[in-house]
Amino acid sequence: MRKKIVAGNWKMNLTLEEGIKLSSEIKDFVKNNPLDNLPGKPEVLMFTPFIHLTAVAENAADVQGLGAGAQNCHTEEKGAFTGETSAAMIKSTGAENVLVGHSERRSYFGETDQVLAQKTEIALKHALRPVFCCGEVLDERNAEKHFDVVKEQLEKGLFWLSEDEFAKVVIAYEPVWAIGTGVTASPEQAQEMHAYIRKIIGEKYNATVANNTTILYGGSCNAKNAAELFAKEDVDGGLIGGASLKADDFCTIIKSF
Ligand code: PEP
Repeated sequence: MRKKIVAGNWKMNLTLEEGIKLSSEIKDFVKNNPLDNLPGKPEVLMFTPFIHLTAVAENAADVQGLGAGAQNCHTEEKGAFTGETSAAMIKSTGAENVLVGHSERRSYFGETDQVLAQKTEIALKHALRPVFCCGEVLDERNAEKHFDVVKEQLEKGLFWLSEDEFAKVVIAYEPVWAIGTGVTASPEQAQEMHAYIRKIIGEKYNATVANNTTILYGGSCNAKNAAELFAKEDVDGGLIGGASLKADDFCTIIKSF
């Protein structure tokens, strides 16, 4: 059975003090509401800036189902890459997850499908779980190219992995037009794309792999609309940006299965 996940992407927000406070509030909620007793038994992840990662990972370590992740990693093992952070460094904080290919990385930092394939590879090498983001921009959807765009992103970024490697990856479908805009994909639009992604995973690998792959929705998912999105058969949870910065909203989303 595939895992349900609610993941917060803090982006470049919160001072260290604010981040520790937020992670403590989320931890308190999870301690008082054991995830195994909640509908969907979700796993809860916090993707923090690097500055916060050690503290948040340590904070999460003793709570079942609560975890931390980085928002990016470098393609290389180590070396003269000033300002960058390696997969091994992330792993050494206690964090076990990393976002790969968020649309803000693709568009503002020029991360290509080839670079994202390398990041996926090095993340897996260091036993980090990649949460691989894909999604089309508005023009591509309007031109009805959204399925082709997502297929190409997955083929180039992930479909070269072996079955065993692929089984360790989580996918986040994030239509770029919905990220940070307040415009959410309708539950039907999300379901349609998630079902398509599952179909092409089945074609590339097999039905068991497809069935076991967790596919998250991201893009203006919030405390009000999470339940109807998560109710869809192929939507296994959410990658949450803005609404992950307020503990109350994020905890409502955790309870939305
Ligand atoms: C994101 O950053 O991945 C995201 C989905 O942001 P928001 O929820 O703010 O649209």
